[in-house]
Amino acid sequence: MNAQTPDLTTYQGLLEAVTDAHSGWESKDPATGEVIGGVPQRSVGDLDAAVVRAREVQPAWAAKTHEERSAALNAAADAIEASAEALAELLSREQGKPLNGPNARFEVGGCAAWTRANAAFPIEPETLVDDDSGTAQLEWMPLGVVGAVGPWNWPMLISIWQIAPSLRMGNTVVLKPSEHTPLSVLALAAVMNQVLPEGVLQVLTGDGELGAALTSHEGFDKITFTGSVSTGQAIMRAAADNLTRLTLELGGNDAGIVLDDADPAAIAEGLFWGAFINTGQTCAAMKRLYVPDSLYDQVCEALVDIARQMPMGVGLEEQNVLGPLQNRSQYEIVARLVEAARSSGARILLGGDPDESQAGNFYPTTLVADVDDENPLVAEEQFGPALPIMRYSDLDDAVARANGVEVGLGASVWSPNIDRAREVASRLQAGTVWINKHGAIDPRVPFGGAKSSGFGLEFGVEGLKAVAQPRAISW
Ligand code: NAD
Repeated sequence: MNAQTPDLTTYQGLLEAVTDAHSGWESKDPATGEVIGGVPQRSVGDLDAAVVRAREVQPAWAAKTHEERSAALNAAADAIEASAEALAELLSREQGKPLNGPNARFEVGGCAAWTRANAAFPIEPETLVDDDSGTAQLEWMPLGVVGAVGPWNWPMLISIWQIAPSLRMGNTVVLKPSEHTPLSVLALAAVMNQVLPEGVLQVLTGDGELGAALTSHEGFDKITFTGSVSTGQAIMRAAADNLTRLTLELGGNDAGIVLDDADPAAIAEGLFWGAFINTGQTCAAMKRLYVPDSLYDQVCEALVDIARQMPMGVGLEEQNVLGPLQNRSQYEIVARLVEAARSSGARILLGGDPDESQAGNFYPTTLVADVDDENPLVAEEQFGPALPIMRYSDLDDAVARANGVEVGLGASVWSPNIDRAREVASRLQAGTVWINKHGAIDPRVPFGGAKSSGFGLEFGVEGLKAVAQPRAISW
C-alpha cells in the first residue's frame, strides 16, 4: 500500500479517504456527540461538473455487455466485503445503529448481497408476439444518467438500492446522501470506486438545497428518491419541467394485524423486530399494531417481556441491539408523539421517560396501550422506538382502520392459518404485505409503495426495468 493511498479496509483509512477537515461541516456521533470528521460541502457548480462527467463516461459504460457490468458489480461487492468491518464501524458511529442485531453489520452485508443480486438478475428481450401476424419484442436500454437522493436511516443499503440496478443497466449515477449520514455513503462509494470505472458513480454531499438543485437539474434522465412524503412532493414538482422520470420511495405508517388464532408468545419476537428494527427508524417498520380483544393483554405482556431483554446503548458496544435516534429532530418527534398519547390517557406499558441527562439521542423502547387511532402517535409516522397497540373486536373494522391512512408502504397479518391470513392480506392497501413477519425484504421481491408512499418499484428484474428505457421492436 503506497503512503498516499489510504487503506479502505480500516476505519482510519476510510476516514482519511472521505473527510475534509477544512469544510466547517462536521458529522457527529448521535450516541455521544463526538465529532467523527469533517464533511465535504459540495456546491451547485460541483453538481454541474458531476453531471458533465457522468454524461461523458456513460456511453462507454453502456457499451459494455451485461456480463461486463455484472462482473464490475461483483468486484464492487467483493470490495465492500473486504471493507465490511470498517464500513460497519463508520455506519455505527454516524447513524448510531449498533454493530449487532439487524443493524450495521447486517446493513453492510446487505449492500454486498444486493449488489450481487443486481449483477445476477436476467434482463433479456421479451417476446410479446410471435405468430402469423408477426413478431414483437420489448428490450431494455440504459436511460443515461440517474440522480439519486437518499435518507439517513439505512444510508448505505438504500444507496445501493439506487446505485446497483442503475449501474447494471448501463446508466451512470450521481448521488446525494442525507446531510445526517454523509460520510457513510461517501465511504461506501469510495470502496466501490476502487474497482468501478472512474466517473460512473459520484457522490456529492450537501443538504436539502443541493438535493433540490439535483432534482430540478436538466441533466438527469431519472431521479430515484427515498425519503419523506413532503420532500417527495417537492421533487415531483421540481421534476415536472424536465419531465424527469421518478421513482419515489416515501414514508409509511405500516399496520400489523394480529388474528385471534395467533399465539402471543410465538409471535412476540417477530412483532418486536417488525416494529423496532433499526430502533424504529425504518420506512417499512410496523408503526401501528391491531390486536383482538381476546388476545390484547397477552400480546401486550409478551411484547413488554421481549422489549425488556433488548439492550439499547452506544452502537460500538457489542451487546447492544438498539441505539439512539439518529438526530435530535427525530428524537423530538418521537417524544412529542408519546406525550400526545400519554396526555390522551393512553397507558405507557414500557419506556416513555427518556433520561434527559444522558449524552446522545437515546429514547427508551416504548410500548403504548389503549390509544385511539386519531391520536398523533397512531395517525403520524413516529419513525422511532415507540409502538402504539390498539384493540379491535371486529376484523373488518381492523382492516378498515389499517387502511385508514394516506400512506401504504407495508402491512402485516399474524396467524398460524396462512389461508386466513392471506385473505386478510388481500384486503390491505400496501405495496407489501407480510404474513408472520414485517419489514423482511428480499432483493428478488419488488418493493414499492401504495397511495402516498410513492410509486415505482425497486429490487428484482422490475427494479432493473425501473432504471431502463423500454423499446418495443416489431417486424
Ligand atoms: P427527508 O425527505 O427529510 O430527506 C431525504 C433526502 O432529501 C435528504 O437527502 C435531503 O437532503 C433531501 N432533500 C430535502 N429537501 C429536498 C428538496 N426540496 N429537494 C430534493 N431533496 C431534498 O427524509 P429523511 O428524514 O431523511 O428520511 C425519513 C423518511 O424517509 C421517513 O418518512 C421514511 O419513512 C422515509 N423512507 C422511506 C423509504 C422507502 O423505501 N419507502 C426508505 C427509508 C426511508
